[in-house]
Amino acid sequence: MSAHQAHRFGTDCIHAGQSPDPTTGAIMTPVYLTSTYVQSSPGVFKDGYDYARSKNPTRTALESNIAALEHGRHGLVFSSGLAAMDCVLHQLRAGDHIVLSDDVYGGSFRQLDKVFRHLLLETTRVDMTSLQAIEAAIRPNTRIVWLETPSNPMLKIIDIAGVRAIVDRAAAKSAPPGGVRDIGLGPLGSPLQNPLLVADNTFASPAIQNPLQLGAHIAMHSCTKYIGGHSDLVAGALITDDDDLAARLRFVQNAVGAVPSAMDCFLMLRSTKTLHVRMQRHCENAMAIARWLTRHPKIEKVIYPGLESHPQHALARKQMKPSWESAPGADSAFGGMISCIVKGGLDPTRRMLERVKLFSLAESLGGVESLIEHPAIMTHASLPAEARAALGIADGLVRLSVGIEDARDLIADLDVALA
Ligand SMILES: *Cc1c(COP(=O)(O)O)cnc(C)c1O
Repeated sequence: MSAHQAHRFGTDCIHAGQSPDPTTGAIMTPVYLTSTYVQSSPGVFKDGYDYARSKNPTRTALESNIAALEHGRHGLVFSSGLAAMDCVLHQLRAGDHIVLSDDVYGGSFRQLDKVFRHLLLETTRVDMTSLQAIEAAIRPNTRIVWLETPSNPMLKIIDIAGVRAIVDRAAAKSAPPGGVRDIGLGPLGSPLQNPLLVADNTFASPAIQNPLQLGAHIAMHSCTKYIGGHSDLVAGALITDDDDLAARLRFVQNAVGAVPSAMDCFLMLRSTKTLHVRMQRHCENAMAIARWLTRHPKIEKVIYPGLESHPQHALARKQMKPSWESAPGADSAFGGMISCIVKGGLDPTRRMLERVKLFSLAESLGGVESLIEHPAIMTHASLPAEARAALGIADGLVRLSVGIEDARDLIADLDVALA
């Protein structure tokens, strides 16, 4: 099923990258639990299959499937979202500069700040809702602009196409990287010449937002969230249209080796078959709950990109598009994540979190079951109090990952918990 361009998203979810097994006709891609492949003569093997870190047929099917869902030519999957990020950061040279969102996923910042410390990278964190702030942060040695939209947990929306225009202007002015010479590292030998725009698309999923089509050079996912969708695996993905960049990323994927197991690839293939249906329900449920919360007397504020009150609502309307056929006037979809502030600070908030029954109190997001969490105490506890305050992470802030249960039951659960 390689000529998938003619099909729509929901069809690609089910078919892209997969065809019946040639030996048996098995309709599902087999789980190739093998570490090696038999060669017919030394160095003669089939279709690149010499060792399973380099290539595994279940993974190959998944990589083509995910590439199709992000409308990209190349897909690469990893053992976690952070392993996918690590693959991108390995493209950098000592002293390179990276610009990232002020509220970038904590684990992403920790990797950059702690693991890559030896590269003495320069980093600038900016509020990326301001394109001027991003432009002002660019330096001659900027090599990556890393954004997340919607962001976590404030659900800020970043204008991907707008950032790409800035990156292109920066490319025109960028200084050749220090020590430009090829240092003979194979695909990584030459330094990145121009800044790359990387968009972490985890919170939206490819069902409602496609960063490559909006101008990103790389779309990145923590597949642990919506792509996996069932809270049963940890994985990551990178998608790009650029052949050279894909070769560099592929080199690191194999050389570092943070690849997912064939079983996890199979689970993801099963998951992406329902991605469009799940996302439609996540979006509908979240919209209904966001509207209900805005009317609740114990809720101070609701943050959801689908509400007119969201500061970047117009941009979200433009950038986040449902891949399914939608009713006239409903041609945007805003995802399953909601944040809200409970009136009265920590104590009433803690009571609500202890009283929910259907929503589970847990970190992570994107599964079929609804989760609720308290960023200040849970996901964002490692931030100093002042940094949390600067981002707007109040003690009453609660983040909901709205699942695909019946919305009426979810609302009833919140109603009892808030009573
Ligand atoms: C979870 C997450 C990551 C990290 O992915 P892992 O699969 O946990 O390694 C990166 N970015 C965002 C936005 C995430 O939510």
